[in-house]
Amino acid sequence: MNPLDFDYVASSTMSGAVQQYTRLTQAGKQPMYYGGGTEIITLGRLHQVNPNAVIDLKPIPELQVMAVQQGKLILGGGITLTQITGQSLLREAFPLLQATVHEIADHTARNKITLAGNICGQIFYREAILPFLVCDSMVRTFGPQRAKERSIHQVFQREARLEAGEFIAQFVTDSPTRTAPFVHIKRRKAGQVGYPIVSAAAIRVSDRIRIALSGVCRFPFRSSALETALQQGGLTVGQRVQQAIQVIPQNLILDDYEASRAYRTFVLATVLEEILQRLGGA
Ligand SMILES: Cc1cc2nc3c(=O)[nH]c(=O)nc-3n(C[C@H](O)[C@H](O)[C@H](O)COP(=O)(O)OP(=O)(O)OC[C@H]3O[C@@H](n4cnc5c(N)ncnc54)[C@H](O)[C@@H]3O)c2cc1C
Repeated sequence: MNPLDFDYVASSTMSGAVQQYTRLTQAGKQPMYYGGGTEIITLGRLHQVNPNAVIDLKPIPELQVMAVQQGKLILGGGITLTQITGQSLLREAFPLLQATVHEIADHTARNKITLAGNICGQIFYREAILPFLVCDSMVRTFGPQRAKERSIHQVFQREARLEAGEFIAQFVTDSPTRTAPFVHIKRRKAGQVGYPIVSAAAIRVSDRIRIALSGVCRFPFRSSALETALQQGGLTVGQRVQQAIQVIPQNLILDDYEASRAYRTFVLATVLEEILQRLGGA
């Protein structure tokens, strides 16, 4: 049984959701948008989030879109991870996204977790962001300032940067990147389910390898300095990998119950080497 006690409203339009947000805020509540609810409920039980009202965005048709329009793949923020892994369209249209989200949680949790909920959550792994970072995707948001379309790199810097009352409606990704040769590697402490020590998504476009990482720091990121170090000429693969790792400030590399800083750094080196080998950069 859910021990949380909050008002639940569902909205079927984007403007209706924002109106509900404004109305609840004016009534003195602290509303949160609700995707799959897995994090809201888990952290709510631990008293780490305390919404007294939630607005369910899943009934909004724009947040359920999964379609290719004029070469652009549009994915609604309310799509569940199971819908992504089970959708045959995406096997060709965005295989890196399928491979990445397939490794998040277990099948039961993926039935609930939504794309935008994973990316906007407080639990910092947010692995679903990785494919969008390497593909330079665009994000469509909706809020009190109405509809906006911005680069993923503006909307997501370590975490989602949204105004009060603003939510993610859709992700838009062009074809040269989303269909490029790709690699996804996830290394856990043990087993097939769990948060990563290192999770990496990489593609090769125009002879350049792009990489985004989760699990290494307390936030997912993509670093052009790391990508450049990894691909500089005249050095061995091992030397390039070591220089790429030096780009990350040592104190930012996680040192926790999942893995020590030294072990995580070792795992990261093996992951970067494997990416170079599999994408032809070795
Ligand atoms: C067993 C288990 C294992 C897991 N393992 C992993 C893992 O290995 N890697 C990983 O990355 N994740 C993992 N997760 C998922 C992660 O920890 C979160 O629980 C999940 O991503 C939250 O998604 P949700 O759709 O349920 O979001 P919700 O709980 O509904 O919301 C989470 C946050 O996102 C906000 N939000 C929701 N939708 C939107 C929107 N459209 N626009 C703006 N904000 C929005 C909410 O307001 C809230 O702040 C795991 C979860 C479980 C239960």
